[in-house]
Amino acid sequence: MKRFNFALNYSTMIETDILIIGAGPCGLFTVFEAGLLKLKCHLIDALPLAGGQLTEIYPKKPIYDIPGFPEVMAGDLIDELMKQAAPFKPGFTLGERAETIEKTDDDHFILTTNRGTKHKAPVIMIAGGLGCFEPRKPPISNLSEFEDKGVEYIIKDPKIYKDKKVVISGGGDSALDWAIYLADDLAKEVSLVHRRQSFRGHPDSVQKVIDMSNDGRINLLTDSEVIGVNGNDSLQSLTIKAKVEGEIIKEADHWVPLFGLTPKLGPLADWGLNLEKNAIEVDTVDYSTNVPGIYAIGDINTYAGKLKLILCGFHEGTIAVQSAFKRIYPDKNLVLKYTTVNGVQGF
Ligand SMILES: Cc1cc2nc3c(=O)[nH]c(=O)nc-3n(C[C@H](O)[C@H](O)[C@H](O)COP(=O)(O)OP(=O)(O)OC[C@H]3O[C@@H](n4cnc5c(N)ncnc54)[C@H](O)[C@@H]3O)c2cc1C
Repeated sequence: MKRFNFALNYSTMIETDILIIGAGPCGLFTVFEAGLLKLKCHLIDALPLAGGQLTEIYPKKPIYDIPGFPEVMAGDLIDELMKQAAPFKPGFTLGERAETIEKTDDDHFILTTNRGTKHKAPVIMIAGGLGCFEPRKPPISNLSEFEDKGVEYIIKDPKIYKDKKVVISGGGDSALDWAIYLADDLAKEVSLVHRRQSFRGHPDSVQKVIDMSNDGRINLLTDSEVIGVNGNDSLQSLTIKAKVEGEIIKEADHWVPLFGLTPKLGPLADWGLNLEKNAIEVDTVDYSTNVPGIYAIGDINTYAGKLKLILCGFHEGTIAVQSAFKRIYPDKNLVLKYTTVNGVQGF
């Protein structure tokens, strides 16, 4: 899957027509449907890359139930959705969690992220999937002292690892893929530490790591575990317990434990929305919530007969933007126009 580069916007206030929380497949397709109605969108996602579960959990798995695609790799579907949304120039705030909302006198929402970025819009579309993914942290007592001082749970900007000594832990696709990526002429030294002999990731990636280890480009430590983090102001070394060698100290500028992510509804649970078992209740007429101006689409919503499928989320986003348009422009008439007739008129 391609890695798209976006300029993250840290200006004081980002204004748009529809603020979409969650840049998963449903949020991305909503940008396109909103664009056809000349509504501009800005997406916020806690993860550093767009794509939601497809990018984070199963980028290399084929999907078979997207209409018109008998088989499509999850990562490729996200690339195509990004291309489809591109004419409507969506804005992105990535790597930040939507945290609080407040209402203004002119019936808009101000949404603030955990990093203080503020966004203003008359409509919020929650496409938050299973909620925010929180990293699984290894049980090391002083770990928090080194967070963002050498210990990172998500790779947001690979450039920070240039010419550095990096240790990655984990046995899944993320750990394998990042070890390969960073060892390919970026980091000074890459070590991959895994508790077992065998890896859970894609066989091609496992083979590539073994080949790179044989070439001396990745330092592969299996049957091993990081048990301590050491340093003064920032990370300097790791204590690794290896089955054969015993305890060793490894110099490291960065440690990236990639032990997976667990989803949590997180701050959205405090926004006064009607919830049922961690999902947001919606009216199936337009997928609106009980808070006027806030809609919920995709995996995060619930209603009688709900199916957590991508194609259902595409439908929900399409219907919801029609309702959002009427809310933003109550006096304008909305006529459905086929794309075959009108084409796609980008911004
Ligand atoms: C292994 C696997 C296989 C699957 N196979 C299929 C399949 O074959 N066909 C199919 O139709 N579906 C499949 N699914 C389900 C499909 O992935 C989901 O239905 C789909 O991802 C839902 O899309 P979404 O846009 O609603 O949410 P998601 O893809 O979950 O994206 C939601 C995004 O919102 C972000 N977010 C949440 N809360 C916040 C917040 N407060 N602030 C900022 N960001 C936030 C998250 O970080 C996430 O990136 C599969 C799922 C899995 C796990």
